[in-house]
Amino acid sequence: MNALQPDTERLRALDTAHVWHPFTQMATWHEDAPLIIEKARGNWLVDTDGNRYLDGVSSLWTNVHGHRHPHIDAAIRAQLDNVAHSTLLGLSSRPAIELAAMLARVAPQGLNRVFYSDSGSTAVEVALKIAYQYQKQRGPAGEGRSKFLCLRGAYHGDTVGAVSLGGIDLFHAVYGGLLFKTVRAEAPYCYRCPFGRQKESCRHECFTHLEETATRHAPELAAMVIEPLVQGAAGQITHPDGYLAHARALCDRLGILLIADEVAVGFGKTGTMFACEQEKVTPDLLCLAKGISGGYLPLAATMVTDAVYEAFLGDHAQCRTFFHGHTYTGNALACAAGIASLQLFRTEGTLERLQHIITIYDALLRQLETLPHVGDIRRRGIMTGIELVEDRATRRPYPFALRTAHKVVLAARRRGVIIRPLGDVLVLMPPLSITAQECGLLVEATAEAIQEVTGGPR
Ligand code: PLP
Repeated sequence: MNALQPDTERLRALDTAHVWHPFTQMATWHEDAPLIIEKARGNWLVDTDGNRYLDGVSSLWTNVHGHRHPHIDAAIRAQLDNVAHSTLLGLSSRPAIELAAMLARVAPQGLNRVFYSDSGSTAVEVALKIAYQYQKQRGPAGEGRSKFLCLRGAYHGDTVGAVSLGGIDLFHAVYGGLLFKTVRAEAPYCYRCPFGRQKESCRHECFTHLEETATRHAPELAAMVIEPLVQGAAGQITHPDGYLAHARALCDRLGILLIADEVAVGFGKTGTMFACEQEKVTPDLLCLAKGISGGYLPLAATMVTDAVYEAFLGDHAQCRTFFHGHTYTGNALACAAGIASLQLFRTEGTLERLQHIITIYDALLRQLETLPHVGDIRRRGIMTGIELVEDRATRRPYPFALRTAHKVVLAARRRGVIIRPLGDVLVLMPPLSITAQECGLLVEATAEAIQEVTGGPR
């Protein structure tokens, strides 16, 4: 580690004095000697003291091709020479148009229309409002359909509509009085099965339960909202195969829209461009953000089918218009980054290369299974959750106040690797551009950090 520079001390003091960090207990923030990131290149971050850290969570699940990729840098610079921002209200812009057309080509077939916004939360908010209004404008078939079905442990963002869908009490319960009511189904969390099953005794009750819940509430449901394949913020909960296709079939049968929130899983993180592809599902609405701009600039998109879009067409006086939009909707620089990122998927064969990396990464991760306090290792593509437990036999969690995973994250950081805790689940989600050697470092540092904090032999 390089010595602490005076400038770092100054910035830390100002940070503590003025910056309120997300999801952070500010009373103890300074105790962790927060890093201040100055630069980045490839899969590495560099702090103000010149220390390098492997970006093991792709800068909050956004950075797809590594930092400072020359192609994306050049695309943003070129766009800057034209225009940084105008508006999509009453005008249009070349990058917003080109990106929408590209997204329609790569998204599950049938999703042809793109509504832009600027974060995952707003992409979900847009989807909620579209689904709600769609049902209203559908005539008698949509009457009374105003609620949303979502899963326990769901995370769809922090704006009030998205929080209403949220199912993580730690984050969401305090806002109860502000929120609209939803219909909640148990999540298919296999390690802690809500139906009391183990792998060997599984009867897929989660499938039946979803069916029963959806059927019971169908007449009042506008849409079902799901994080396809992996519930990220819940602790990288990987859904059983067929669960998403089951949800699609139910929605079709019951006349409910399916909203797929691919904010976390989209753009290659589960091994395919979109998670929905793996179960051959086209949702009615698809929410995208995070990786959409390659992890460079705030951008989001809500994609919809023609059928949904057409319910909003009509004479002005009919007031079918979607009255929604943000000032920076479809920002030109962000869209230019998005175009460049999608081009890289093609020119660099990102997903093809990733399959090879995943095989190596998976074998490395399996070595952690022998650690006595690793209860479960869940992985889809590059998205990984390592659930730490106090007692492996009973799956008893550590006391909340111990902040075990948080301590592991700090120990990993001392080894030059950035990972993140979600409760006592460690999240590893490196950029898709990670190399085999970097995978080795990521897993090795994580293993050592777990051992340092939880004890026990390797
Ligand atoms: N939806 C999902 C599945 C997410 O994982 C997140 C963020 O982690 C969001 C929505 C919210 O995205 P943002 O933080 O960009 O608002």
